[in-house]
Amino acid sequence: MALYKVLISDNLAPEGIEILQRDDQIELEIRVGISPGELKECIGDYDAIITRSGTTITADLLENPGRLKIIGRAGVGLDNIDLEAASIKGIIVMNAPTGNTIAATELTMGMMLAAARKIPAANISLKHEEWTRKKFMGRQLYGKTLGVIGLGRIGGSVAARAKAFGMKIIAFDPYIKKAKATGLGVTLYDRLEDVLALSDVITVHTPKTDETRDMISVPELNSMKDGVIIINCARGGIINEDALYEAAKSGKVFAAGVDVFGQEPLGPHKLLELDNVFVTPHIGANTVEGQEGVAVIIARQVINALQGRAYENAVNIPFMRSQLPPIMQLYFDLAESMGRLAAQISKGRPESFELIMVGQKFKEDFGERVFDIPFSFQPFTVAGLKGFLEKNIKETVSFINASYLAKERDMEIHESKTSSYENYNDLLLLRLKTDVDEHLLGGTVFADNVCRILFLDQFHLEMVAKGSYLYFKNIDKPGIVGRVGTVLGKHRINIAGFNLSRIMGGKAVSFVSLDNDVPEPVLEELLEQDGLLEAKVVSL
Ligand code: NAD
Repeated sequence: MALYKVLISDNLAPEGIEILQRDDQIELEIRVGISPGELKECIGDYDAIITRSGTTITADLLENPGRLKIIGRAGVGLDNIDLEAASIKGIIVMNAPTGNTIAATELTMGMMLAAARKIPAANISLKHEEWTRKKFMGRQLYGKTLGVIGLGRIGGSVAARAKAFGMKIIAFDPYIKKAKATGLGVTLYDRLEDVLALSDVITVHTPKTDETRDMISVPELNSMKDGVIIINCARGGIINEDALYEAAKSGKVFAAGVDVFGQEPLGPHKLLELDNVFVTPHIGANTVEGQEGVAVIIARQVINALQGRAYENAVNIPFMRSQLPPIMQLYFDLAESMGRLAAQISKGRPESFELIMVGQKFKEDFGERVFDIPFSFQPFTVAGLKGFLEKNIKETVSFINASYLAKERDMEIHESKTSSYENYNDLLLLRLKTDVDEHLLGGTVFADNVCRILFLDQFHLEMVAKGSYLYFKNIDKPGIVGRVGTVLGKHRINIAGFNLSRIMGGKAVSFVSLDNDVPEPVLEELLEQDGLLEAKVVSL
């Protein structure tokens, strides 16, 4: 019996469709070209929708998402999906970024060769029955310097191939590890200016973000070598088209290869007037193998996610708990418990949430930075936020929507790392500020692999970060703990464990683990005891 309904709304390669059809838990519907109105009517009936670039998934469409849990994009670009709207509704958005890496790489190599040798122009010339060889004096790639802007999947794969051409490869990418560049035999520069000034050929392979929009414009083009070759097979607008036009027209740019444009489809455009600018209509991913690749990847990922198995490329969950090293999975759980505790002991409206990762274990970043979402945090921050919000607000909170829900509530989210804190080595610190109070919690994972809360404000504890506790705060004076025990005993509530911490003559906090639940009237009775300031049940 089919358990999950999946809709395909764009053309998908048959290899992907077959995978979905073969799975007897999946009921598949293919409605290519479905109108936005029809889609709005029925989108909530499906567990997953698979699109390419032809379907626009807007916030309006997701207003009542019904049973929709997954939006799968067979390809890499997410321009047609309102990621924020999907994330707020807790819908996983996944893409297939690796499926067309080779296709885009090979187009880039083709563009590079075409531009260096003016192959497209020579082809047109000969087809016009001109035999003019002088006009098509080219440039050699061998021995030249290739500047790669964005050394990700495609940038790295272009670099590897260009090396085989005998080119020297340099790159600018502030977000990758130096070791990746070294492994590829690429010299990584910290400043874009250096790469621009040193390169004979420049190719961009970044996503389009606020940072990369018009990344190459008039000043950058002026700073390049005369006769530079420029390629953009990434996204339109990373290279400013007006500036490129002027530079190609003046001869500063020897030739350019452009697959992507600010406005697509491209209408009449001045770049098309120039003989040394070679264009293609965004065909970077268009190979039979590339389309097959993305279709197969997205079909498998959607099935895995629906059936509760591990999956990849969820862009609005930049990490998966199961992909963290085992010890970091425990810190992830600890952060979530700390978030829950912070929510239950604090009062007032939350204003800021800060997670501080202490020690060597947190030196490396976990999860990938996703450029399509406006903010991304380390898994521990997201886990802490999720724990905090699910106890603080009464709606479905997930790892996907936690950061969005916090931002929606005008909470400031801070995240930082430090090498040590007091005498602790590996520690998570959670600082919560509300409009009426502030708390600092610390927790760690002990050698026995048990997560423990080590302190709450000035109170030192050693409490297992799991389960339910009776929490109470009192004035530190004789007899109070005894009276709490008496009240609990009277109601046949058995104490299983006791964590008490006090500031002598000041206040004390206790977390008591119990064999039974504490009904509301018992809490009220406890609060009537002289010297007792707070009493509640908290669950971690
Ligand atoms: P990727 O995420 O693997 O790599 C992108 C790289 O850009 C990352 O290493 C990142 O660190 C780097 N980067 C981000 N911001 C930067 C900045 N400000 N300066 C320098 N580097 C920066 O992505 P990918 O799969 O290699 O894709 C690269 C680009 O190619 C994307 O824009 C993608 O949409 C595009 N693409 C186009 C086609 C096509 O049809 N023409 C096909 C596939 C991919």
